[in-house]
Amino acid sequence: MSCLKVIRLGHPVLRRPARQVPAEAIGGAAIQRLVDDLIETMVEEDGIGLAAPQVGQSLRLLVLGQPAAGAGPDAEAIPLRVLVNPRLVACSTDREWAWEGCLSLPDLRGLVPRASRVVVEAAGFLARVLQHEMDHLEGIVYLDRMPDLRQLAFLDEYGRYCQTQAPDAPAAAAQDDARGAQR
Ligand SMILES: [Zn+2]
Repeated sequence: MSCLKVIRLGHPVLRRPARQVPAEAIGGAAIQRLVDDLIETMVEEDGIGLAAPQVGQSLRLLVLGQPAAGAGPDAEAIPLRVLVNPRLVACSTDREWAWEGCLSLPDLRGLVPRASRVVVEAAGFLARVLQHEMDHLEGIVYLDRMPDLRQLAFLDEYGRYCQTQAPDAPAAAAQDDARGAQR
């Protein structure tokens, strides 16, 4: 296993819809190595999720997971998962607001609306992480989901001014999920 370089905003692969992993490649040595490397990189970088395009591989493959950490809504433990060619079957129409970070957009946090429930069996924090990672497979980053770019902050300023404001309102800073989390 080896740690891979995470590409940043501006790299064209981050904006390209990713290719399906061919059926015959699933379970093969090359994909297994990529999965192992994605997991190692995610853990090393303190991420909650990592999609293959974020390491420059334009493939519909992502890993996610975190051990339970601290208190608050972002403390929810997510078992380690590997998703190959995942598909969002359905999304609820309601929206939850929460701050997100991204390993490909280091030192930033943004307030992003997401469906509160999605089918791939996910709800709450897991639903948010899944949607964030699956966006990477379409060349979308969380900035594109933000209706109000005034709700974008550098990490240090987020910690100072945003984290302590009331959650659930676009105009206010949520103390929700993505605190300290990068995907
Ligand atoms: Zn991300």
